[in-house]
Amino acid sequence: MGLHRLKELSHRHSGKDAVSIVVCHGGVISAIMGELFPQEKKNIWDWIPGPGFGYCIEFENGDPVMYEKINEIKKLGFGLMRPPMKGDEIDIEQMKDMVDVFMDNGYTYFDTAYVYMGGKSEEAAKAALVDRYPRSQFQLATKLPTYSVKKLDDAKRMFETSLKRTGAGFFDFYLLHNLDRDNNMIEDPLGVWDYLKKEKEDGRIVNLGFSFHDTADVLDKILEAHHSDTDFVQLQVNYADWEDEKVQSRKCCEVARKYGKPIIVMEPVRGGSLGNLPENVARIMKDAEPDVSLSSWAMRYAASVDGVMTVLSGMSTLDQVKDNVKTMENFKPVTEEEKGLIEEVKAELAKTPLIPCTACRYCTDGCPKKLNIPGFIHVLNEYKLYGYKEVAKTNYQWTIDGGIASDCIECGACEKSCPQKINIIEEMKKTAELFD
Ligand code: SF4
Ligand code: SF4
Repeated sequence: MGLHRLKELSHRHSGKDAVSIVVCHGGVISAIMGELFPQEKKNIWDWIPGPGFGYCIEFENGDPVMYEKINEIKKLGFGLMRPPMKGDEIDIEQMKDMVDVFMDNGYTYFDTAYVYMGGKSEEAAKAALVDRYPRSQFQLATKLPTYSVKKLDDAKRMFETSLKRTGAGFFDFYLLHNLDRDNNMIEDPLGVWDYLKKEKEDGRIVNLGFSFHDTADVLDKILEAHHSDTDFVQLQVNYADWEDEKVQSRKCCEVARKYGKPIIVMEPVRGGSLGNLPENVARIMKDAEPDVSLSSWAMRYAASVDGVMTVLSGMSTLDQVKDNVKTMENFKPVTEEEKGLIEEVKAELAKTPLIPCTACRYCTDGCPKKLNIPGFIHVLNEYKLYGYKEVAKTNYQWTIDGGIASDCIECGACEKSCPQKINIIEEMKKTAELFD
């Protein structure tokens, strides 16, 4: 994975300075570093890097002036889809604290998107991260809402906007957002892939890939057509969706591995629902490991999948950052015994079918009645799980921040953008019948 850093460093210089890459044994690296930086007083073993890693050395007029260790991207990424809030605005001060804890523990990958919170997530990335840390110390990913690109100029404008909002200068990872069977990115008549490949050549994108929400056969077709354009894929992987017919986590991972593409995991905790399991289900995990959070089981499961580069977690509080950091510190893949326990949990969960909403909010922007669709679905799921109508009704009232469910005019705009293919109109009708 050090390759990502080498590529980034090489791009960062944009051909203005010479960049040379030496690939050699650890002993040679150690000898070079000891020779160039004797003032560090390190012995041969101190300098030896992990397999596949090394150092970046900067020279001025032939003299070594500084070095930077090339580190692996660790298996926890900071998702900026659900940042901490203060009223209607992102709580930047809390987010700074969260970023600091994350970075202090050696984690470096951040994930935002053009559409997250109408652009405020990208702006928050600038305020809490980009403006506060040297650019070489973190990786920033953002996404182009391909489904909103009607002409190539839209893609160009959105890419430039993302660069401006984040102030990042370049993106370590740039994704076509939410590819599926409908958005025609295989044929790509507008030439979006070609445009982004040009940005990659120019060094403003280091790694190009896409996030994906569809079945494994569709992923196979996209990768078959764009194998050489794609450096990585972002997939929904969690234990609840591992064998799910619509999501197909396992099969999608197999396709990614077939094409040799590193996997970035999204929704490992399925929008938080695997961290808030009903008591009868949670008990299985709590009895086995009383001091371990439910989310940590889900995080470890996703991180244990072969080919996974990092696991994104949309963190909203400092406690969530600390819990995730604790989980991934000295990360150990799930054992066969633990997998058996997770199967027990799945069997118990399967007894209560829930609406598979991940709270991604892709559906809300286009709703003419401004319904809080994921909020209403969450309340419906709670009602399915616990069956307390009065409590659910109170929660529903707290959840309304635009129209009520019976305002739905059945226009269908939300269903077109839902990656989970939820029959939202039907769910709004049920919500209205139960609570309006
Ligand atoms: S179908 Fe209903 S919930 Fe969906 S976008 Fe239209 S009005 Fe909103
Ligand atoms: S209904 Fe679909 S699009 Fe809307 S928040 Fe849930 S998963 Fe996302």
